[in-house]
Amino acid sequence: MSAHVASSVTRHPSPQSSAITLSRRESSDWQATAVAVYTGAIDAARLQLRRRLDERMLALTGREAPAEAIAMDAEGQSASAVVDGVLFLLRRDDLVIVRPCAYCQTGRFVSEPLDGQADLGYALAVWAPYHRDCEPADPPTDTSW
Ligand SMILES: [Zn+2]
Repeated sequence: MSAHVASSVTRHPSPQSSAITLSRRESSDWQATAVAVYTGAIDAARLQLRRRLDERMLALTGREAPAEAIAMDAEGQSASAVVDGVLFLLRRDDLVIVRPCAYCQTGRFVSEPLDGQADLGYALAVWAPYHRDCEPADPPTDTSW
């Protein structure tokens, strides 16, 4: 009597769910196929991104980010990981670190792309991002007397 609830979504972590029930009408097959292709492409992109982040992190820090410290956006475009309190972000091929404003400790500022340990060392020890209103006022650069 009650209408079949079509909105219940079961998520299979593994793509090898061979038991596809064809209980619905055939017309929805092309939709399911398209969604499966899309999901597979996104999964592949996310997996590739994850691997690239692992490789870059290992090369730069000698450490692997624990799986629970890695976050990825839904599209598989960027991945981030927190290691020892430092937030790393991989966007396409650029690995950067993200830090808050050095004065008010809020916001998110992205470093220059890190190509090696020297870049990382600079970003950690020298680089100090500021909001426009938080920049240290001494040396007054454009004070018109
Ligand atoms: Zn600030």
